Amino acid sequence: MAKRSKPNKNSGGKSLSTRAIHAGEPRRKYADSLTTPIIQTSTFTFRDSKHIEDYTKKGKEHFEYGRYGNPTAKIAEKRLADLEGAEDCVVFSSGMSAITTTILSLVQSGDHIVITDDSYKKTLEFCRSYLKQFAVECTIVPFGDYGIIERAVKKNTRFIFSESPTNPYLNIFDLVKIKKIADRHNVLTLIDSTFATPLNQRPIEFGMDLVLQSCTKYLAGHNDILAGAVLGRKELIEKIRNLHKSMGGLIDPHCCYLLLRGLKTFVVRVERQNETALKVARFLDSHPRVKKVYYPFLESHPQYKVATKQMNGGGGVVTFEIKGNLNTAKRFLDALKLCYIGPSLGGVETLITHPALVSYYDYTRKERYELGITDTLFRLALGIEDVEDLIEDLGRGLRQ
Ligand SMILES: *Cc1c(COP(=O)(O)O)cnc(C)c1O
Repeated sequence: MAKRSKPNKNSGGKSLSTRAIHAGEPRRKYADSLTTPIIQTSTFTFRDSKHIEDYTKKGKEHFEYGRYGNPTAKIAEKRLADLEGAEDCVVFSSGMSAITTTILSLVQSGDHIVITDDSYKKTLEFCRSYLKQFAVECTIVPFGDYGIIERAVKKNTRFIFSESPTNPYLNIFDLVKIKKIADRHNVLTLIDSTFATPLNQRPIEFGMDLVLQSCTKYLAGHNDILAGAVLGRKELIEKIRNLHKSMGGLIDPHCCYLLLRGLKTFVVRVERQNETALKVARFLDSHPRVKKVYYPFLESHPQYKVATKQMNGGGGVVTFEIKGNLNTAKRFLDALKLCYIGPSLGGVETLITHPALVSYYDYTRKERYELGITDTLFRLALGIEDVEDLIEDLGRGLRQ
């Protein structure tokens, strides 16, 4: 699985699982500690005037002030860049902070952007509503129609933003097609690859310019922190880092430590989640009380071919619709004993959400149905519990 990833000379190993543990950190650490120390400081000192000048005039690496960078965060950035196969990375206090700062660093008033309609709800809201304040025009295009996407691109288009797989239907964006469109029109490509992680999908290898990650999910993996990252070429990342220093949505050093710790086990966790999700998807698919299952590595998925071509695994999320109505859906939820009811994904605990009752509670039924959010739709984000226990729990729910 990890064979496509390029080795990094600093990471002490070729495979993704080895690099997830060692990449980015020095072999010898402060006080010979095995784990990465948390450098809990807001400011850094200069040894003398020469040290100042080495930093200001010669550009030698030094951390000056917490908002401009921190050694623990730097290690997280190096490790994430290594795993994604990117030149550089900036970490943020949340995935949304990464997304909004990245977008703002790329646009000027008078610019235009293209974004697909099933992108993350808050990303869409930001592009549709807030960018208007800066006179940045946004065209929302239907996912999967590459003709419409190409026709939406104008002279002043800066980038095409998409996500893959998407939420909640796990649609797969064809990275080869989008790269061709972008090249024909000389626009940048941004992709939110949170649902995939660098184990399952490596967009940089497909020529995407910037990859966005909500590290809150699989990369940190324990449902205990919020963090985000943007990855790509040095020159683009430098611009984003610079704006980040003004926006100030910094991640704190302790949080970075938890991210680094989570990353050490990310490959084993996601491999397990891939396996569990496929088994659960097959179980649901054959269950008489289930109407439809959406999982990219299930043959019935509309983009199964693209998914298996550009991804190494289907990911840990399974979306499904049960037979019945809103009351059936509530009875199913209430019968679950192992799966927690809650938003988010990617952690070790299995979480289930009912989008109609949670994320789209403020929409009318008609609006929800137009978006495909039906009354009996569920998104199951698998953790790393035993798959038989999870299947038993879901089976009990379905019998209700
Ligand atoms: C969670 C998520 C985000 C936002 O990340 P936060 O860390 O919650 O700010 C963005 N995109 C996708 C696909 C997500 O799942």
